[in-house]
Amino acid sequence: MRPLIAGNWKMHGTRAEALALAAALRAGCGDVAHCDLLVCPPATVLHAVAQALAGAPIALGGQDCHGEANGAHTGDIAAAMLRDAGASWVILGHSERRADHGETDETVREKVLAAVSAGLCPIVCVGESAAQRAEGRETEVVGWQISGSLPQDFSGVIAYEPIWAIGSGQHATPADVTTMHAFIREELHRQFGACGAGISILYGGSVKPANAAELLALPEVGGALVGGASLVADDFLAIARATPR
Ligand code: PEP
Repeated sequence: MRPLIAGNWKMHGTRAEALALAAALRAGCGDVAHCDLLVCPPATVLHAVAQALAGAPIALGGQDCHGEANGAHTGDIAAAMLRDAGASWVILGHSERRADHGETDETVREKVLAAVSAGLCPIVCVGESAAQRAEGRETEVVGWQISGSLPQDFSGVIAYEPIWAIGSGQHATPADVTTMHAFIREELHRQFGACGAGISILYGGSVKPANAAELLALPEVGGALVGGASLVADDFLAIARATPR
């Protein structure tokens, strides 16, 4: 499996800002052919960024989609609309969606099904809070999220993102990442049998150029989901360059 370095731009970027970032990524990505690059801009700029990156080796994704194909859901976005705007991926179940919008594992599972049937590859986020880790419940929590959020015959990617590491500047230790990714791999085997081996597991949570090489070299780390550092083209590309060849 080729490593995947995915950028989550979150709620950042006017059209001018997004196009400037896309142009810088396009200009600088020539020497990172050993990994797959993906950016997930806000939906309002997805189509413009898709046009700006046309022909470049950088895929596009959404940050969320609705669980239904269409309908009376004011403010929501269907998976097929993301696809139509140029996306081939979608992030689902990010902890900010789970916290801000009350998304449950069940909601996430419905979204995964909607994404796959629209032809999008889902990145399903899981991860424990600081309190859950302090109670020693991190694997229990992540285990429930995996069994609740992934439908039968899941095809996509998992992102392990401890909530306390997101945007905090404090990444999980290599030992903790190794333990959790091994646990997730076991869970995927348990749920999906031999197919569980083919599901890539990204790490996310304060990945920066300075820590990327160490984190991305760990066993069962198939790449990174990057928030803050993905808004700076040089940093995002430096993380990609740090991916083991
Ligand atoms: C994220 O929100 O998915 C994330 C990993 O953010 P950051 O890299 O800023 O911690």
